[in-house]
Amino acid sequence: MTSPAEGGTPAGAGPTDTDWAAALAAVRGLPADARVLLICHVNPDGDALGSMLGFGLGLRRWGVRHLQATFPGPPEVPEPFRWLPGLDLLVPQDDAYPDPDLVICFDAASESRLGDLVDRLDKAGAALVLDHHASNTRFGGIHLVDPHAAATSVVAEGLLDRLGVPLDAEIAACLYVALSTDTGSFRFEATTPEVHRMAARLLATGIRPGDISRRIFDTRPFGAVRLFGEVLGRARLEPEAAAGRGLVWTYATQDDLARYGQPAYVLEALIDSVRCTAEADVSCVVKQVAPAEWAVSMRSKGAVDVSRVAVALGGGGHRFAAGFTGRGTVDEVLDRIRAELVGALTA
Ligand code: 5GP
Ligand code: MN
Repeated sequence: MTSPAEGGTPAGAGPTDTDWAAALAAVRGLPADARVLLICHVNPDGDALGSMLGFGLGLRRWGVRHLQATFPGPPEVPEPFRWLPGLDLLVPQDDAYPDPDLVICFDAASESRLGDLVDRLDKAGAALVLDHHASNTRFGGIHLVDPHAAATSVVAEGLLDRLGVPLDAEIAACLYVALSTDTGSFRFEATTPEVHRMAARLLATGIRPGDISRRIFDTRPFGAVRLFGEVLGRARLEPEAAAGRGLVWTYATQDDLARYGQPAYVLEALIDSVRCTAEADVSCVVKQVAPAEWAVSMRSKGAVDVSRVAVALGGGGHRFAAGFTGRGTVDEVLDRIRAELVGALTA
């Protein structure tokens, strides 16, 4: 465990009363015409978008009139999230306020996850960080980082509640998407009684969980179904890896995507098919993002702390789900992962 940053919260503990008070003061102290910029991490997933847009809708209800939401990179929202309430808050990164009064970051464990928007941290009047990654580097000035929270949306709901913003169906839909994606539809270990209590509060607004789940988990183009078939067909099992706990992995290239006419984000769901493998504790999908650059997703069933592997290779994440950007060939990236696995055994 790292030592507490000076004046900050020890890693592993959730926000203190002082942290909550600082966050509330940053919002309540905003002038009437304040400009607030919300930023979530690159290649946004359900928690990044859902916590950001749900909180943004809440801030709008609270009275912030000049409000933008954005994320680094191309401004396209993955198709499964294109119905989310609050999408009208989104602007391309180049149109985002250059010097907002307040910047709020969602689900980003480190500054590197903010891409070109990282300069807003210094240019903004104040920087508030809402996150739940144990690997959070404590960038920004005010931290609401709770490694025990199942999703960043848990922290976002906590702040909305303290601001006195009631949940409505639009806010709830966003926060529910965030909560259900990061808990794998309420299947992962992080699914505590409090997660179900929060889900109950969200469902009580009248949102329809069946419709939401079908849109975000159970719908993909036929081309993606066939692409998955090919990419899963080349998966490799290495039972001896991670000191015998086993590794299963596959990769997908930009050419694979082009042949099936698919955008990159369809590959996000692939890891769920790979991690089913009974014979492996660790699963891994290596996704090409440039000729010699790969976005790596890793999952563990518990014998390996994959966030340690990810951090060692320049990324981050959680114990059971983590990632990093790898350079070189697929084989070189895999060699680096294999080398880190043994040192990341949990017992
Ligand atoms: P996924 O595999 O679903 O993309 O990500 C799993 C977890 O690892 C998420 O919590 C995500 O934020 C984190 N993660 C994935 N890629 C990176 C990365 O390149 N850098 C960092 N710091 N975290 C990552
Ligand atoms: Mn998250």
